[in-house]
Amino acid sequence: MNSLPVTRELFDAFMVPNYAPAAIIPVRGEGSRLWDQEGREYIDFAGGIAVTGLGHAHPRLVAALTEQAQKLWHVSNVLTNEPALTLARRLCELTFAERVFFANSGAEANEAALKLARKYSADHFAPDKREIIAFTPSFHGRTLFTVTVGGQPKYTEGFEPLPPGIRHTPFNDLAAFAEMISERTCAVIVEPILGESGVISATPEFLQGVRELCSRHQALLIFDEVQSGNGRTGDLYAYMAYGVTPDILTTAKGLGGGFPISAMLTTAAIAASLNVGSHGTTYGGNPLGCAVANAALEIFSNPEVLAGVRRKHEVFMTGLSRINQRFGVFRELRGMGLLLGGELAEAWRGRSRDFIKAALDEGLLILVAGPDVIRLAPALIIPDELIAEGLNRLERAIARLLS
Ligand SMILES: *Cc1c(COP(=O)(O)O)cnc(C)c1O
Repeated sequence: MNSLPVTRELFDAFMVPNYAPAAIIPVRGEGSRLWDQEGREYIDFAGGIAVTGLGHAHPRLVAALTEQAQKLWHVSNVLTNEPALTLARRLCELTFAERVFFANSGAEANEAALKLARKYSADHFAPDKREIIAFTPSFHGRTLFTVTVGGQPKYTEGFEPLPPGIRHTPFNDLAAFAEMISERTCAVIVEPILGESGVISATPEFLQGVRELCSRHQALLIFDEVQSGNGRTGDLYAYMAYGVTPDILTTAKGLGGGFPISAMLTTAAIAASLNVGSHGTTYGGNPLGCAVANAALEIFSNPEVLAGVRRKHEVFMTGLSRINQRFGVFRELRGMGLLLGGELAEAWRGRSRDFIKAALDEGLLILVAGPDVIRLAPALIIPDELIAEGLNRLERAIARLLS
């Protein structure tokens, strides 16, 4: 037995310094609460960055995982497996999709979507139709292709040369997009609600207009629902609330409730371009991940759970407004379902991380979306009592920051 203490110092000693984790180390979670090494309890309004949508250690996910763990973990894609087939069929039944590709992370699902769009264009159109249009600000992952598509210099600097054929235009600006899209455009990728980039919802006119222009120019429309999907916004996928259907949809984060799995959904006609051997992944669609996602999907696609998300949105908004009436730290409170953003008032701009620290000191986990926005992404099924107690802790944290 290795009895050496496991401490936060080990991070700096042994791990690549690309993250700056907090001082505490959580060791156990249950529902919307976590406990650290010292046994201190935290209320979780962060959800592992919009991932643990059913909270920690949900009994039905634990059962699905342990049951599958005793049967079959991995067979590779040389063989298929029952959990993957069940999950693919279910996702198609519940959405516009007719075909599914599984991967392990959001970036990989987007990578697959962008590669599919290029390949589809190569199969059907002239060689000059390969351009991809994305919006600023946005976030699509950290592979070289997806991070370039994301278009944020702070994430691409130093990693040049970047893949070519990618253009950017402002989010929610339909006129600018209309200027840019052309016969050379093969695909357009957009987050219906900007997650990392500030919790900003697309306007219905913008998404509708983007859809129409994509159809007119025979460009594929990709919705990146890595963060907005899986019940997070109060609909199974955010596109359903907008009534705007993409050609390709990617999702990840909440899909496995904490087990790494992602999916790219599309139509049969478009999927045909990913013919045998054209793309792949070793772990994508593995039985463990798919078994957990099947259990998670059954819960978060339940209309009562989705109605609960919309109701809890109001509970949060009421509580946050009340806190803001007292302190005036937010210039705007926004978001959909349980993806909530509070944009900081002028005096607090650039200081979102101070709020994370203050909340942690009060026993509350929250997120930021850039330097100016506080983001909350709690479990879809967080009990009202924990919302109330978490908001009390947030109020104490802000009072402390202001004092
Ligand atoms: C988190 C996120 C990604 C990247 O997902 P990873 O699993 O970290 O690769 C892509 N797009 C959006 C919208 C995201 O929120």
